[in-house]
Amino acid sequence: MMKPGYVRVVIDRAIQRELDYSVPETLADRISIGSRVRVPFRDKSALATVVATLEESDAKGIRPIEALVGDGPVLSESLLELAKWMSAYYCCPLETVMRSLLPQVIRRAEIGWKKQLVVHPTMIDDGEVEKLRKRAPRQAELLETISKLDKPIAAAQLLRQTSLDNQTLRALAKRGLIELREEAIERDPHADEQFVASANLELNAEQATALKKIVDALAAPEDAKPILLHGVTGSGKTEIYLQAIRAALERGRSAIVLVPEISLTPQTVERFKSRFAEMHEGVAVLHSHLSQGERHDEWHKIHSGRARIVIGARSAVFAPLRDLGLIIVDEEHETTYKQEEAPRYHARDVAVVRAKIEKCAVVLGSATPSLESYHNAAIGKYALAILTQRVDEQQMPLMRIVDLRQERRKEKIAPILSGKLAQAISDRLEKREQTILFLNRRGFSTSLLCSNCGDARNCPNCSVALTFHRHMARLSCHLCGHTAAVPKKCPQCGKDPLIYAGFGTEKVESTVSHLFPKAHVRRMDADSMTRKEAYRETLRNFRAGKIDILVGTQMIAKGLHFPNVTLVGIINADLALHLPDFRAGERTFQLLTQVAGRAGRGETPGEVFVQTYTPFSPSIQFARHHDFAGYFQQELEFRERCDFPPFKHAILITVRSEHEGRAKLSAETLVRRLKESLGSEFTISDATPAPLEKLQGQFRFHILLRGEAIMRLSRLVRETLEKLPLPEDVIATVDVDPYQLL
Ligand code: ADP
Ligand code: ZN
Repeated sequence: MMKPGYVRVVIDRAIQRELDYSVPETLADRISIGSRVRVPFRDKSALATVVATLEESDAKGIRPIEALVGDGPVLSESLLELAKWMSAYYCCPLETVMRSLLPQVIRRAEIGWKKQLVVHPTMIDDGEVEKLRKRAPRQAELLETISKLDKPIAAAQLLRQTSLDNQTLRALAKRGLIELREEAIERDPHADEQFVASANLELNAEQATALKKIVDALAAPEDAKPILLHGVTGSGKTEIYLQAIRAALERGRSAIVLVPEISLTPQTVERFKSRFAEMHEGVAVLHSHLSQGERHDEWHKIHSGRARIVIGARSAVFAPLRDLGLIIVDEEHETTYKQEEAPRYHARDVAVVRAKIEKCAVVLGSATPSLESYHNAAIGKYALAILTQRVDEQQMPLMRIVDLRQERRKEKIAPILSGKLAQAISDRLEKREQTILFLNRRGFSTSLLCSNCGDARNCPNCSVALTFHRHMARLSCHLCGHTAAVPKKCPQCGKDPLIYAGFGTEKVESTVSHLFPKAHVRRMDADSMTRKEAYRETLRNFRAGKIDILVGTQMIAKGLHFPNVTLVGIINADLALHLPDFRAGERTFQLLTQVAGRAGRGETPGEVFVQTYTPFSPSIQFARHHDFAGYFQQELEFRERCDFPPFKHAILITVRSEHEGRAKLSAETLVRRLKESLGSEFTISDATPAPLEKLQGQFRFHILLRGEAIMRLSRLVRETLEKLPLPEDVIATVDVDPYQLL
């Protein structure tokens, strides 16, 4: 191989440019694409990633690289190619993409393993243990455990296992009975776990057909299309994933499984770890709760090839596995796969592109595929595998629609629980079966209104009403976190009567507790689950039957299996429907179907009550009849008529500033420039105030662009923005394939 004379690098700073450096003779052998280097930049030095090696460079004033950071390259050429694609597609600088691709701990110069206290077993005779028994029983107990060790163990792990403390350990060391050393070893957040190996289940006919499609794709990935696995909840998709991964491993290939963060529960991870229990360290888990140190170690476990399977949320799509053979995106319709800050990528779409670059198979699984993927399957871009039956041959739950308009006529005020739903809960309580109540809104009441002047308590920074939270007895903004005291009187007109309007999960919990005083009711939402443990604990108690009624937000809508839940109540199905978003109907349909999937997974068939003011809206009616095809059909017609995705790509530009006038003016100027540079094949909206006009003190304007040739559109947008100097206090962000239209 030619020794590179020069390299092109992207430095870890927003300069939107690649730079060339010369390679000193001493480093020439060790530098390659994907290496991390330290380079002089302006009058300091900066960290950078090598993106190309060159024989020559015509850049002026070239300086040499200062140092190589770490051992080998951190990025493969394939990942680098993926990064370049993302930069072009998502209209964002390469260094921003790099920030997502390489975790911060890996980019830092001082990559290192944390030093830990390690206990080394020494020769200990039983006499020593017996001597200690009386004077220091705890020390004796610990010493006994240590005497049985056959290899060194991290002190922290040992103390966790024995429930003894550090002091006891130190005392033993002082007596010279054991040896403690500071050593660099890997943190394994799951070191204490033990898994019983699980065997492959025998697949039913539909599952076998689906698996065969995936195995065929593994065998000939060059010609394979992405596979959309459309299977109702409980149809055995996960079992197919497990066997497909096994097939990939047998071919010497590795696999990535993406799941939404919220579904990355211990239950899910355990299913994978126990199937591959024979592979020590074989399964790495990446999620947002890892400490920096744990993330560092997991990353190296993957990068070094010791881990062959990666399970993780969104960013695990970048896991640096070698010989990647299979990427699985579970719940591919989930909007949490879209990152809402730059780079604003969608992990499912990135997975499909990575699979193409790395020539590997890709499977997108869902009970309610996104319209985009469904459309891709319909036009033959994706292959389709369908599972129509639940494995246990359970009936789909019966869905009952409760018309809240009629309820209101009866009751004068809109009830939180209709009579029918309350009756159904009461039945379940008698039969000792469990209920889930779902409402996608936190808090107690969603606004505080003055009954005299009608003034609502709004957030001073955002254009939304403040939500009243009873547990903290304060008003709070769900967008910026601003909180305020609850005023005694209306601050506007000075008259006293303030009324609480609207309701959230907190109010549902209190209403249900009043109505069923003997029932055990728990709430699960971002307010009640601030501790990580609280989440697991509540789920454990619910599974153990210690909770009769679980009230919650989307936290409880996904992927949880509770055999004893026979009733699901959707308190208000209209919340998503009324958002100014072309995906509102799709989201409602998916939500109803997903939530309904929580009911009746055991012996008893389930029942779902959907409370709504719009009982005849198509997303509710089709969901009620479990009619996917019908729903997709009418929704696709609507999207096509309106030139929305998946028929046209969209780009949303948001222009924001603390100064309303400057934001507006800049947005209008930008629209004019875009009209000049974009051809007539693209449609450009006017600059309009965003539905959420003010957020965190900034005024926001939207420009929506649509067209088919997305790469060209992205490029033209980037070029236009580069040529348009915005005032210092105005910021424009570009969102390609946007999901948040607020
Ligand atoms: P999904 O991922 O589609 O919701 P799962 O893979 O979780 O479905 O399957 C639901 C349940 O059925 C699980 O308990 C799983 O172990 C079981 N299961 C899956 N496939 C089979 C099979 N072929 N035979 C018996 N049980 C199965
Ligand atoms: Zn706010």
